[in-house]
Amino acid sequence: MIILVINCGSSSAKYQLFDVSDHRVLARGVVERIGQAGSQLKHQRGEDVIRRKILCSDHYVAINIIVTALTDRRHGAIKTRDQISGIGHRVVHGGEEFKTSTLVTPRVIRSIEKYSELAPLHNPPALLGIRACAKILKGVSQVAVFDTSFHQTMPAKAFLYGLPFKYYKLYGIRKYGFHGTSHRFVAEEASRLLKRPLRDLKLITCHLGNGCSMAAVDSGRSVDTTMGFTPLEGLLMGTRSGDLDPAVVFYMMEKENLSAEQISDVLNKQSGLLGVSGVSNDMRDIRAAAAGKGERAKRAKHALEMFIYRIEKCIGAYHAAMGGVDAIIFTAGIGENNPWLIKRISQDLRKVVPPRAKFMVIPTNEELLIARDTYNIIKGVK
Ligand code: ADP
Repeated sequence: MIILVINCGSSSAKYQLFDVSDHRVLARGVVERIGQAGSQLKHQRGEDVIRRKILCSDHYVAINIIVTALTDRRHGAIKTRDQISGIGHRVVHGGEEFKTSTLVTPRVIRSIEKYSELAPLHNPPALLGIRACAKILKGVSQVAVFDTSFHQTMPAKAFLYGLPFKYYKLYGIRKYGFHGTSHRFVAEEASRLLKRPLRDLKLITCHLGNGCSMAAVDSGRSVDTTMGFTPLEGLLMGTRSGDLDPAVVFYMMEKENLSAEQISDVLNKQSGLLGVSGVSNDMRDIRAAAAGKGERAKRAKHALEMFIYRIEKCIGAYHAAMGGVDAIIFTAGIGENNPWLIKRISQDLRKVVPPRAKFMVIPTNEELLIARDTYNIIKGVK
């Protein structure tokens, strides 16, 4: 069975076409700069890679271009579009309503629209993608897979903030957590690799990419995670500050005469590894700079040490929260490509973490999980 996985951002649409019978990726690619000058399609089928300048005014056109590329006689992976049996969409926010992936219905669309208020940059483009697919691939079942749903198992003590309770009731202000698809994927992989059922495992999963988050996964259920109401909370990230005293926000607003939008920009785009180091948001650049001399190296080292320290503190915290830990798993760009980091953390924590606990690197594959969920859901429908 062939499943198309779509991940729509505000100006891009990534896609992967899977044959779920053997988990094979038939083709993948991305339409970039949607609605801007210089839109382009990058499409890949095995070794065959094409890049094309295209005119792409909106997400509807982007999906059309994707379907055309997938069925292209020379570069495509399928003959006709009706070979696609289902479409899985990555949707960032499912609020408290979506605890698992779900078949897209008009009611589900209305809910995703409602949660756009909580994810104004992410939910609207996902909806554009869903609506475009409904028209272009008429009649094909669609499934929404949410970044938040895996963390819906968190207990109230972990997801509530110490604010007046009415704000939770009125506006849904609470910790939701993100990267759920990735945390769930690597937790399931860890169970497979360790040959132990998830229900017997206490795992700490560390998704370290440009955005970074950790989760405490007890018996296959997320019981805590570092990202919060938005992805800004928690670890130090590429350009996001992570945790800080909320009083800093209004102090800075006053001192620098910043609007809410401007302070949000500072915290989301100018902070983290980039803000502290002044070098880059990219771990490779930070490491290179830290190996040098002078003020630049000093700041890069601060960024690096803060990054590591927060992860280590959180491993201790989640170990305590679960009353044990069997494995600590590292994934995403930084987690998968920096063995020195895992070595450093395991050495620093050798007296904290039980000696039998394993440190593992497991490549994430959110698209595959979306394809699998889509398959499992539409299989039940047909
Ligand atoms: P995103 O969250 O945007 O998907 P990624 O998961 O690709 O980001 O992670 C980006 C981070 O991964 C960057 O900090 C980058 O330095 C790091 N990274 C990616 N590839 C490598 C590599 N080969 N070696 C070291 N670091 C890497």
